[in-house]
Amino acid sequence: MRLHSTRHKAAETTFTHALFTGLAPDGGLYHPLEIPDLRSLFESWDKTASFCRIAEQVSHVFLDSEVDAEVLSRIIKRAFDFSPALRRVDERISLLELFHGPSFAFKDFGACFLASFMEEILAEENKHAVILVATSGDTGSAVARAFFKKKNIDVVILFPKGRVSYLQEKQLTTLGANVHALEVEGSFDDCQRMVKESFGNSRLRAGINLTSANSINIGRLFPQSFYYIYAYTRLRQEIEGDLLFCVPSGNFGNLTAGIYAWCWGLPVSRFIAATNINDVVPEYLEHNVFSPRASMHTLSNAMDVGNPSNFERMQEIFGHDHDAMVRMIHGEVVNDTQTMEQITEFYKQHGLFIDPHTAVGYLAARRVLAADGVPLADGRVSAGKPPHIVCLATAHPAKFRETLKQATGHEPELPEGLAQAMHLPKQSIEIKNDSRELAEFLLQKFS
Ligand SMILES: *Cc1c(COP(=O)(O)O)cnc(C)c1O
Repeated sequence: MRLHSTRHKAAETTFTHALFTGLAPDGGLYHPLEIPDLRSLFESWDKTASFCRIAEQVSHVFLDSEVDAEVLSRIIKRAFDFSPALRRVDERISLLELFHGPSFAFKDFGACFLASFMEEILAEENKHAVILVATSGDTGSAVARAFFKKKNIDVVILFPKGRVSYLQEKQLTTLGANVHALEVEGSFDDCQRMVKESFGNSRLRAGINLTSANSINIGRLFPQSFYYIYAYTRLRQEIEGDLLFCVPSGNFGNLTAGIYAWCWGLPVSRFIAATNINDVVPEYLEHNVFSPRASMHTLSNAMDVGNPSNFERMQEIFGHDHDAMVRMIHGEVVNDTQTMEQITEFYKQHGLFIDPHTAVGYLAARRVLAADGVPLADGRVSAGKPPHIVCLATAHPAKFRETLKQATGHEPELPEGLAQAMHLPKQSIEIKNDSRELAEFLLQKFS
């Protein structure tokens, strides 16, 4: 896979290099140059194709030129010992459950692929790496779980003391082994600044092979395209009308991965970008003005993003053409009151819990279906055969017990993996919000 930067100044590079680099040196995001036509591959699978098989075959198309085929297969098998699940709600809507991985959120797909890939390459090159990440909660637990006990890798996670939920703190701090949780006396912004300053610290970088694992990394984005393809294989013999995807979005990585799959020929008639009141992208779609701003706190807090970084990739895909993006992506905005109402209603109707992020997507999809005919990318309005919308279910409801209890009067049970963490002792190191202290810690421990 050849990649270039969305800012077009940095040199072209390989997937492996982009994955270890994260951000391009010109400040842009890495973006694949080739757009292969994978339609015949997609049509070769039916609903018996396993997620792993789909992931493997798609990866081979892109990466065989730079990674040995056998090694690549091993990377995929080690990454995905879990799978998405498609739950048909009714004729018109399905939920694509992406929360059956180790941290019970969709970020597991990207993080586990990245960790497995890095482990293989580092072993091959006989190198050690330190992954440094700041988290406000969810990303950190996916990264921690993904890199837990990976060989030749240590993970250092900075989180703001007292500002992540009890459950999130347990997920971050109870692993031990090669996962080091640093509790920062400060805010999430302080944590992010400290990470950024560490990457700019030449003494530190000379002593330690420092790597990031944040969500803009192409190594996390690319594998997220696999489950859109997976959903299609489950549905293609079952539905007759158009297929749409509805994606609860914050940084728009998840949606961008779906658009990649569509670029490779996945027959998607339109995407619905569902946001909470942090609606910079829906606003752009409607009014053609992009105005990033400070984020506001909501119940679907993993989507509280005021300046979505993947917008740069979306612009690149649609050639900076507003109309082209609007044809393919429809925006919907859902506030907290509506989110709560949707959780309550879903529970009443189906006896099932959905988390606040999924609820945002589900309500957005229902609005689109309730409108007179669903507008599609090619200008058609769906008529005759009804369209089907796949809503991405991004987090396990048990991660948001308080909210669910408020909305439904009941509490979802904790899955075993989460229940276990609740009883383990916390292992973390307290640190001031000071980059020098962080640098000392890292050098002492890893150089
Ligand atoms: C991160 C996250 C999102 C938003 O995904 P983006 O790729 O940032 O748009 C939605 N739901 C949950 C549960 C998340 O953790």
